[in-house]
Amino acid sequence: MAYYNRQSLVLWNCQECHGTYPMKISDKTPDNTDCPYCNNIKLLPAFNDLRTVYPELAAKWSENKNFFYFYSISLSCTLFLALRRRSSSSAA
Ligand SMILES: [Zn+2]
Repeated sequence: MAYYNRQSLVLWNCQECHGTYPMKISDKTPDNTDCPYCNNIKLLPAFNDLRTVYPELAAKWSENKNFFYFYSISLSCTLFLALRRRSSSSAA
């Protein structure tokens, strides 16, 4: 049998969206107003994703071009941070 205190991080099930999310017992409210999916803070596929909420907008989404667009941005940021880390460590 596990024991928890008010600061324990535990998993909760939302009755509204059926998502599961971690939250401290002390932060939990009796209603579902703290659910990160219902409040659109976190993404829950088939509940608050673009395709479910705005299907007409999602139909215009360019799957391939957005993949390469975000992949290239992510790669650029990684290279920038690596070069910055390298130059700052060599300067020190
Ligand atoms: Zn919810």
